Amino acid sequence: MPELPEVETTKNELLPHILNRHITGVTLFWSQIVRRPSVEEFCSHLIGQRITGIGRRGKYLIFNLSSGEVLIIHLRMTGSLLLKPASAEPDKFIRAILHLDGESDIRFRDPRKLGAMWVVEDKSEVVGKLGPEPLEAVFTPQILKKRLQNRTAPIKAVLLDQSFIAGIGNMYADEALFAARIHPLRPGGSLSPDEVKRLYRAIQQVLWSGIGNRGASTDTYFRPDGNKGAAHFQFQVAHRLSGNCCPVCGTAIERIPIRNRGTYFCPQCQALT
Ligand SMILES: [Zn+2]
Repeated sequence: MPELPEVETTKNELLPHILNRHITGVTLFWSQIVRRPSVEEFCSHLIGQRITGIGRRGKYLIFNLSSGEVLIIHLRMTGSLLLKPASAEPDKFIRAILHLDGESDIRFRDPRKLGAMWVVEDKSEVVGKLGPEPLEAVFTPQILKKRLQNRTAPIKAVLLDQSFIAGIGNMYADEALFAARIHPLRPGGSLSPDEVKRLYRAIQQVLWSGIGNRGASTDTYFRPDGNKGAAHFQFQVAHRLSGNCCPVCGTAIERIPIRNRGTYFCPQCQALT
């Protein structure tokens, strides 16, 4: 599932190819991918617009348009945005094409049909409730400590809550908790000041490493050029099969469900004490 590093990579690698290009048409193979406004309005608002920039907020891509409106895209579980020659035949998992002037177009590939797109005037309509960006200056150890106070939910569930912190999903939450040596079931508010600092550093480290390796292609994530990312080769516990050994101590990695998400951890390095 694309998380902050995968979405950031998509943004970075799309940007030089699409900046200042015009949207000349929209093809929808699965119209429910459009969440707002109506499908007709979505297409008519996009056609003729120039793409003036791309940003990211949490796991959302935000395309700035010359009208001042924004196109917001969420890749959800299985989405990728691909840059393809306009003449290329779309594969069966392409749900939408944004046709651009020039020789390539943007294709939204989404095997499980969970992705979503919006065109809105004010991006806060879609991304307004997200928590702080973990790689920006607004996110500090002090802020993390303050936001964790009185949280009784397991720290793993807290990290997945997009209103608590934006952009972290199942893979990077498991990696951050392993790097910080914190058991995923510890109540968020029970972390000591030292553990909060370790978790803060671990979040930054695993996300920057993910971006540096251009995202993790454990499943269906592709970069815009169709290549895979390499971040999953650096994973210590995430997506390990039960029975695989901890790279630090050799203990068998365990997998438990937390809020219905498979959670991988080392019971020795991340002891519940
Ligand atoms: Zn271990």
